Amino acid sequence: MSRPPRIAVVGSANTDLTTFGDAFPRPGETIFGKSFDLGFGGKGANQAVAARLCGAEVVMVAKLGNDLFGAATVKNFASFGVDTTHVRVVDGLSSGVAPIFVEPGGQNRIIVVKGANDALLPADVDAAAETLRGVDTIILQFEIPLETVYHTVRFARRHGIRCLVNPAPALPSRLEELAAADYFVPNETEAEEIAGRPVRTIEEAKTCAAALLQKGFRKVILTLGARGSLLASAEGSEVVPAFSVTPKDTTGAGDAFIGSFSVFLAEGLSEREALRRANLYAGLSTQRVGTQKSFPKRDELETEWARRGVKP
Ligand code: ADP
Repeated sequence: MSRPPRIAVVGSANTDLTTFGDAFPRPGETIFGKSFDLGFGGKGANQAVAARLCGAEVVMVAKLGNDLFGAATVKNFASFGVDTTHVRVVDGLSSGVAPIFVEPGGQNRIIVVKGANDALLPADVDAAAETLRGVDTIILQFEIPLETVYHTVRFARRHGIRCLVNPAPALPSRLEELAAADYFVPNETEAEEIAGRPVRTIEEAKTCAAALLQKGFRKVILTLGARGSLLASAEGSEVVPAFSVTPKDTTGAGDAFIGSFSVFLAEGLSEREALRRANLYAGLSTQRVGTQKSFPKRDELETEWARRGVKP
């Protein structure tokens, strides 16, 4: 393909507010924390940034509050070169935030406030229709209203646009509304919850993916952490192994995987090749702490791909 892939993410943007301390405060108690970190997150935003870092032109369709975090999130998207034309700042709602409290052992407590993400409605997708009609791929997750996800799947289908649905976090949903998507991409726990079957072994992962195909999905990609990813379709299923890495923080690995896979596929690679590269991209992201901060640039991926002597 001579031009870069065009990817749209219709999804969430959050700000992660992480406080590190020695202990959690008891009810009514105020304590000093040790340090604080602000990070841009939200599965939608993370996937958009990963796709952009892999070289795609990326448009984000999202809603933010008219607050400090909303303005900072727009700036963050712009710093990566993500198109924010369809990122709307709305009055009367906060931006999506996730206050996270981390104890020394790494144990954490998280409260996600969806805020403006919950106000991303089908009408917002329609308002972006002209732009969306021009993209190669639309990516969706479950951190926005499910009605909007269903509506966007229908839109993609109607216009022949490739559509990936990442059912994260796992929620009860109308699977028949999602089945028109080209790819359904859960991780192990999401697949377990949605299919109601355990995914401990590769065999179980295959059975679970087969059960999801039975529900009407055309292609299922199950991400399997250090074991890689599994592609299942009517033709059968295949595990594409992960790369050996030394993980420091696996937060956001799934988002790195989905954002990068969409780009490789839109560049014309076969599914298998796209999965291998997405496995490496996501694997590399686990070697650094943070979410968006941990995502490699395209040239880092290519260097690592060559260094590891990976043959096409
Ligand atoms: P999530 O972050 O949603 O839980 P996974 O843990 O399945 O998703 O990770 C997504 C992808 O990241 C995997 O399919 C794999 O390619 C890569 N990955 C995650 N953890 C590791 C690891 N420990 N070693 C190598 N690759 C990993």
